[in-house]
Amino acid sequence: MKLGLLLILGLVGVQCAQIRPRVAPDCDPGVCNGQNCRCFNPGVTPGGFTPRDIPQIVLVTFDDATSRLLYDNYYSDAFVGRNNPNGCPVKATFFMSHEYTDYQVVNLLRNQGHEIALHSISHTTSPDYWTTATAAALASEFKDQRDMAAHFANIPASEIQGIRTPFLQLGGDATFQMITDNNFLYDCSWPTQTYIGDGLYPYTLDYLSKQDCSIGICPTESHPGAWVLPMVDWLGSNGKPCAMVDTCINGATNEAELLNFIKGNFDRHYNGFREPFGFYVHAAWFSANATNYNAFKSFLDYLGTLNDVYLVSAKQAIEWTKNPTNIGGAANTFACPSITPAECTKKTCTLQKPNEGERIMVSCVPCPPNYPWVGNPLGQ
Ligand SMILES: [Zn+2]
Repeated sequence: MKLGLLLILGLVGVQCAQIRPRVAPDCDPGVCNGQNCRCFNPGVTPGGFTPRDIPQIVLVTFDDATSRLLYDNYYSDAFVGRNNPNGCPVKATFFMSHEYTDYQVVNLLRNQGHEIALHSISHTTSPDYWTTATAAALASEFKDQRDMAAHFANIPASEIQGIRTPFLQLGGDATFQMITDNNFLYDCSWPTQTYIGDGLYPYTLDYLSKQDCSIGICPTESHPGAWVLPMVDWLGSNGKPCAMVDTCINGATNEAELLNFIKGNFDRHYNGFREPFGFYVHAAWFSANATNYNAFKSFLDYLGTLNDVYLVSAKQAIEWTKNPTNIGGAANTFACPSITPAECTKKTCTLQKPNEGERIMVSCVPCPPNYPWVGNPLGQ
């Protein structure tokens, strides 16, 4: 009798564990706190610090192909000699797509301490492809891309922890299911227009997010431990919210005006709740005209004069949110990492992309027999 009851309870338990609630419950900060759970809670700083006592985190991220040309023209130059207040080099995050990426460049950026993150293998242009994809389909774009990047750039896969969906077309629960299934740490594809200047920090999806959903499909289910690194919109030069710097600036402007515009958006964070400030951009914006790149560098010069501003990687922003510190403590939180350089023996591979033609792919390991792509990330 007893055994039978236990067996029935056991079966029910197994069944319950497999059914995820359609809508995640509201978050209780008394229950969801600590390193792996944080409520969607605008206006509340991690650790409950007064905003002026905590470091202002700045994130510079680049999307799309990580090419040799962009490295030579910008990435190898923009960050040289720039340090955070604790003397450690500043960092950027590269949401790389696969096609036209030079894996020797990925290797170099990683060895310089920058974060390598993922922007999919195919970068398919159809929004529906991303918003309707299953978790398994997204795994073939991101989990497989992690294997691909680790292999061809010869860097540790465990260091690659973040994703950004092309065109910010978030795939709702499937995206975060993919994240938890495959041990990713965070997504950084979810802009907010509603919580500009409201102190929206990174949070987890253990409980329901109330973040506005302006692009793509947003999750409603519980995804324990999956971090959202919200993209807090800027107010563009036309006064409208915008997620990527490229789309925030309309019309010609000179460097001084552009710098003022960037500072205006930064100040909303710096003089406000000090939630992470994102400079989310495509390097193509630098190529558009010299003013853009010069204003960017002038902005970095300006940040270098502020002793409570840290230009760090996206995963460091999450780590700080997990273990928040005041400005003094930030020196330790953002201590210089000891990086074991990953080797790269450059191979220039000429490969045929089916139906599209020849692709030159620079790799740190011997060339694969076939062009790496979705479903065949190592080009076997
Ligand atoms: Zn893109």
